[in-house]
Amino acid sequence: MASGDVIEELGLDPDELRSKYREERDKRLRSDGNEQYVNMVGEFAHYIEDPYIKRVERAPLTDHTHVVIIGGGFGGLLAGARLRDAGVKDIRVIEKGGDFGGTWYWNRYPGAACDIESYIYLPLLEETGYMPVEKYSRAPEILAHSRRIAEHYNLYDKACLQTEITGLNWDDDAAVWVIETDRSDRMTADHVVMSNGPLNRPKLPGIPGVESFKGHSFHTSRWDYDYTGGDSSGGLTGLKGKRVGIIGTGATAVQCVPHIGEAAEQLYVFQRTPSSIDVRNNRPTDPDWAKSLTPGWHKDRMENFNTLVSGGFASQDLVMDGWTHIIRNLLFIAQQEGNKDLSPEHLAELAEIADFQKMEQVRARVDEIVKDKATAEALKPWYRQFCKRPCFHDGYLPTFNRPNVELVHTDGQGVERITGNAIIANGKTYEIDCLIYATGFEVGTEYARRAGYDVGGRDGRKLSEHWAEGYRSLHGMLVNGFPNLIVMGTVQAGFTANYPHLLDEQAKQIAYLITEAEKRQAKVFEVSKEAEAAWVSEIISKAMMREKFLEECTPGYYNNEGKLSKMARQNTSYGAGSNAYFAILEGWRSTGAMEGLEFHT
Ligand code: NDP
Repeated sequence: MASGDVIEELGLDPDELRSKYREERDKRLRSDGNEQYVNMVGEFAHYIEDPYIKRVERAPLTDHTHVVIIGGGFGGLLAGARLRDAGVKDIRVIEKGGDFGGTWYWNRYPGAACDIESYIYLPLLEETGYMPVEKYSRAPEILAHSRRIAEHYNLYDKACLQTEITGLNWDDDAAVWVIETDRSDRMTADHVVMSNGPLNRPKLPGIPGVESFKGHSFHTSRWDYDYTGGDSSGGLTGLKGKRVGIIGTGATAVQCVPHIGEAAEQLYVFQRTPSSIDVRNNRPTDPDWAKSLTPGWHKDRMENFNTLVSGGFASQDLVMDGWTHIIRNLLFIAQQEGNKDLSPEHLAELAEIADFQKMEQVRARVDEIVKDKATAEALKPWYRQFCKRPCFHDGYLPTFNRPNVELVHTDGQGVERITGNAIIANGKTYEIDCLIYATGFEVGTEYARRAGYDVGGRDGRKLSEHWAEGYRSLHGMLVNGFPNLIVMGTVQAGFTANYPHLLDEQAKQIAYLITEAEKRQAKVFEVSKEAEAAWVSEIISKAMMREKFLEECTPGYYNNEGKLSKMARQNTSYGAGSNAYFAILEGWRSTGAMEGLEFHT
């Protein structure tokens, strides 16, 4: 069967769909791109204060540590764990939040959960002997697991919680990093690992009048339970009798809207672009299945998922969920084609068909669930599934059948204005008591703004200067002019939907780098200019395919709000995918040559 037959059998009209996707994308493009968002400083700084734990005073520190890790989320935890496994004793984690957990420390909104399967998403399950209670973990379980890891690997020892970095500078004479914080610390470290997190800085929309709202307002990543009552499982009794507006319909809103809808007198959901909402089908962990697992299962399962969602082939699908479903469709179509021509171009063609099919199912699901026809129409996403973070939820769509919940669809234009007591959209005024911003996090802004500090390297050169014309690194982790500094994250590294998998591979690399340098009695290591330049060329040369895909996508943080910058090919992940990237790291370690690094004693 040829692809044309498959399309006919599926009842698709690819040209019509492509043109509809283009039309929907074009109406959302704006000239201000990322500038449309407001930095949470000055009068907006209170939106990012920690509502969960009171500040504990402590004396400033001036001591020395072998390895300082910035960030106590999954990246920092994994780096700490793999360093401990490699025998590194002197570690300090510095974390802005009041505990470990990173994104799971901050995001405690009602309904918060992860829709990457828990058996692959939660790190170090075999090492800590923990089995998640459900297929998809809820936020409190993930936060508890973060603490479990920190305890298991003694990472609370020496940790500085509730501490923000204000200065990070290399002292070339002493060959140490000098770290300053908002606690007046001035400590030193031989090595620094930066795991600041990709979505750590919440953002507000720059809607005219955003500063003038007089009612109660907060961002979802700093949920105000004192006001709403209840907890992460719901029961928001404080919203009884209240009119609530929520701006944003991304993955966060999809999870909290059902709880707000249950509790508020009236809920207005202000939508610019609908999310794709697929089946979640959460279920308790089967104890017999858990008992049947043999050592090494966790890594095998993570790799199996990663292979499938990266478009590779695996003889079986262990996770079998909405993420891998699109690949199962693709394989099905490929089988019908008789697997004759599986060149990258042909696979891309098949992937588009599988994507059309998946999104048709997602749109049909809206019609099945949402009773009001106009509301159902407005909730349908018109873009390829991975243009935005796909969502998996069984309670979001039914919420729009409630009489007290109204979808305010702005058809790509967003909210017009905020006043002292109302939101104005589509020319209509919606009076509210409480305004919740589910407007996401900064991604495409300058790194120092997101981190809250710049890094000063050799000869006082700033990292922001080094990256002014685009990110430069070896493997996304090592930067010329910044000795003994290791960066974790997706830029110039292998992006995967299962982000902790990437962090774990990078954590292994970190443990290797630091312990191998020690074996060579090298106090200082640094990537050479040549090795850095070679990796940047490799990144640029592999960026083309993904760029085309992103250009055609509806705006969002995946494509820098629809405005791919001239640095887009450089400030991106490794185009051959995460599996290829992991293999590169492993191959690099296996030679033992530490190619591209320079050492100083
Ligand atoms: P997103 O960036 O995904 O969503 C922000 C929302 O705000 C979008 O719907 C956006 O609309 C909307 N918005 C922005 N400005 C305006 C405006 N002026 N008027 C109206 N609407 C506006 O943030 P989230 O916090 O939802 O999610 C961030 C990421 O966190 C996810 O992509 C995912 O990676 C992760 N996450 C994962 C979860 C999970 O595992 N289930 C749960 C929650 C988050 P538009 O789309 O038009 O830009």
